[in-house]
Amino acid sequence: MSLCSNTNKTFMSDKIHRFIFDTYGIRGELVNLTDSVSRMLQNHNYPATIADLLQQTAAVSILLATTLKFEGKISIQLQTSSHLKMLVVQATHKLGFRGLARYKKNIDYSKLSFQELIKDGHMSITIEPKQGKRYQGIVPLDGESLAQCVENYFNQSEQLETRIWLFNDNTQTFGLMLQALPDMLSQDSFEHLVYLASTLTKEECLSVDAEIILHRLFHQESIKEFSAESVKFTCGCSEKKMLDSIKLLPEDEINEVIKTKGKLSVRCEFCLNQFHFSEVDIKQTPNLVCNNTQH
Ligand SMILES: [Zn+2]
Repeated sequence: MSLCSNTNKTFMSDKIHRFIFDTYGIRGELVNLTDSVSRMLQNHNYPATIADLLQQTAAVSILLATTLKFEGKISIQLQTSSHLKMLVVQATHKLGFRGLARYKKNIDYSKLSFQELIKDGHMSITIEPKQGKRYQGIVPLDGESLAQCVENYFNQSEQLETRIWLFNDNTQTFGLMLQALPDMLSQDSFEHLVYLASTLTKEECLSVDAEIILHRLFHQESIKEFSAESVKFTCGCSEKKMLDSIKLLPEDEINEVIKTKGKLSVRCEFCLNQFHFSEVDIKQTPNLVCNNTQH
C-alpha cells in the first residue's frame, strides 16, 4: 500500500481496486469512475437527480461485476410506478458498462428526495452467464439511499452481510463495498471495518486517490490488495444487432419509411449512436460487418 501523503488527486483512468482482510474473512472493493460515467451521460440531458442515480448505479454494477466468475453480464434495473419509469445499468465480466434512464418529463426533479424518486419501486439484479442459467433477484426499493437499497438486496436475497458507500458529483463517482465472506471471523470484525469506513467524507472520496483512501482507513489492518482493474463505458451495440431488431418490425412499416426517406435510421438508446440502413442493407445483407467504434 502506498504511504504517499499527497492529498491531491492525480489523473487516473477509471479503476476498481479489490482487497481482502484475510484475518477477518472480509473482502472489499473501491471504485472510482470519471470518463466512463461522463460517456454514459453524454447528450442524454438527464435531470441532475436522475444523473446522480445513474452514476451511483453504474458504480454498484462494477462493484458487483467483479464477482462474476464466468463470461456474462450483470444488470441492475430500478423501476417505479411514479416518475422514474426505468433505470438500468448493464456491466460485463470485462468491466465495461452502459446505462440509461427513462422518466416522466415536465417534473422538477430538483425538488424530489431520493425516497420520492424511488417511491413504489423495485430493484432487480440479473446475472446472465453466456452459457448457463440466468439468475434474478428482486427486492422492493426501500431505503434512504441507493447504497442502502443494495445493502437490503444482499441482506434479503443473498444473505451476505454487505455495506456500501456511494458518493458522486457531476464529474466523478465513488463506491466502496465491504462484504463478509463465508469464513468471516466475527460480527465484531465486520462492525470494526464498517466503523472505520464510516469516517469517509464525500469531499475526501472525490478529491483523494484510492490508494491514499485505503491507507487512511485501514493502515492498521492486515489488508491484501489486488492489482487495480480498468473500467470502461462499452455499449456493445452494432449494425448487426440494430439490423436484427429492425427485422422484427412489420415489413410494410419498413417499406413505408424507405419509400419516404430513402433510408431507415435507428438510434442506440444507450450511446445515442445513429445507424442508417438502405433497402439493400435490410433486405439483401443478412450479416453486416460491425463497425461501431464504441467497442
Ligand atoms: Zn450503443
